Amino acid sequence: MNYFNLQTILRPHIQSLTPYSSARDEYTGKEGVFLDANENPLGSTTEADAYNRYPDPHQWAIKEKLAPIKGVQPEQIFLGNGSDEPIDLLVRATCKPGSDNILIMPPTYGMYEVSAAVNDVPIVKVPLTADFQVDTDAVLAAITEHTKLIWLCSPNNPSGNLLQAGAIQTILEAATQSLVIVDEAYIDFADTLSWTGKLADYPNLVVLQTFSKAWGLAGLRLGMCFASVELIQVLNKIKPPYNISAPTQALALEALDHEVEKNDMVRQILAERQYLAENLRTLPGVQVVHPSDANFLLVQFGTGGSNIEPDAKIVFEHLIDQQVIVRDRSKVTLCAGCLRISVGTRVENERLLTVLRHMNNAPVTTDLPLGTGGEATKPELVSNA
Ligand SMILES: *Cc1c(COP(=O)(O)O)cnc(C)c1O
Repeated sequence: MNYFNLQTILRPHIQSLTPYSSARDEYTGKEGVFLDANENPLGSTTEADAYNRYPDPHQWAIKEKLAPIKGVQPEQIFLGNGSDEPIDLLVRATCKPGSDNILIMPPTYGMYEVSAAVNDVPIVKVPLTADFQVDTDAVLAAITEHTKLIWLCSPNNPSGNLLQAGAIQTILEAATQSLVIVDEAYIDFADTLSWTGKLADYPNLVVLQTFSKAWGLAGLRLGMCFASVELIQVLNKIKPPYNISAPTQALALEALDHEVEKNDMVRQILAERQYLAENLRTLPGVQVVHPSDANFLLVQFGTGGSNIEPDAKIVFEHLIDQQVIVRDRSKVTLCAGCLRISVGTRVENERLLTVLRHMNNAPVTTDLPLGTGGEATKPELVSNA
C-alpha cells in the first residue's frame, strides 16, 4: 500500500477548496451571548424550545461515544444524512464527470449507480459470480487509472450474503489508485468482524455503516463512514455545514446508550430469519431461499424453467393484493424470479407464509393484524446510566 496517495485520487479543485466556515466553526465555546448566527433568541415554534440554535456541525458528542464502540478514532468518523450522503460525497470528491469512473458489482445496492449518474460519472459493471461472490480476476482486469471508486457491499443487497474476505483483501491490495468502499449496512446481522479493523492497514479502505437497519432508526437518516483521518477531513470540507439536525444528534446519542437492546433485536431478527427461511423452503412454489447474512431473504420463485420471471411477478402481485409488500428484484442481474423479503415480526412472517400457502386456493381471510408491527416484541429500553 506504499503507493496510495489520497491527493492524487481527489479532484484537483477539491484539494484546493476553501470550505464554508460556519459560525459554529469559528467560535466553538459553549458559554456566552450568541449573536453570531442570526438565530432566533426567543425560542422555537415547537412545543420543545430546543431547536432555535444551529447544531454542532461536526457532531463531536456522537463521534466520541461511537468511536470506542467501533474501535476507531473520532476523527476517522464522518456522519451523513443517511449513507446516501457519504456515497454522493465520495463520488463528488474523487470523480471528474464524463471521464473518471466507478466500479460496481451487480446485483448490488442501487444508490452507487444513481449517485454516479447524478454526477455524470461513468459506471463500470463487473457482475458477481452465480453464487454472488466477487469475480476477482474480472474486477482487477476492469480497473483503470480512471477508476476512482470500487463499491463492495457485504453483506450484499439484494443477495444477502457476505463477500469473501480474501477477495476484498485482494482488491484492497491491488487497487492502489482507487478508494475501495465496503458497505456494511447489514453487518450487525452477520457473524463476522467489520472491516473497520483493517483501516490502519489500508489507507484506500472506506467502510460504510448505518443507523437505519439494526439500530431501528431509518427515519432519522443517519449514516456512518469510517476512513483515514485525511479522507474524513475531505468529506467534512465538502459536506453541507449542518448536515445532521439537532434532534437527530440528540436521538443518536440516546440510541448509543442502548446497544444492548439493539443486540437483543438483532438476535430476535436472526431467529425469525431462520424460521422464515425454513418455512419458505417447504413451499412448493419456492425454488431457492438464498442463504442470508442480513435481515432479509432473496427468494427465487417459479418453475426453474426458461421463463421463471412471470412467476415471481404473479407472486409479487398476489402478495400486494393481500397487503403484504415485498421487493420485486426479478429484473435485476442474476436475480431472475427473485423477490427480496425483509424479515418481519413473527406475526408478519406468519401472514406472509399464510398468503403464500393459500396462493392457489381461497383468499386469505385471517384476522392477523396488518401494519408495521414489531411493537409487541421490542425489548424494553433500560438506561445504561
Ligand atoms: C439500507 C442500506 C443502506 C442504508 O442507507 P441509509 O441511507 O443509511 O438509510 C446502505 N447501504 C445498503 C446496501 C443498504 O441496503
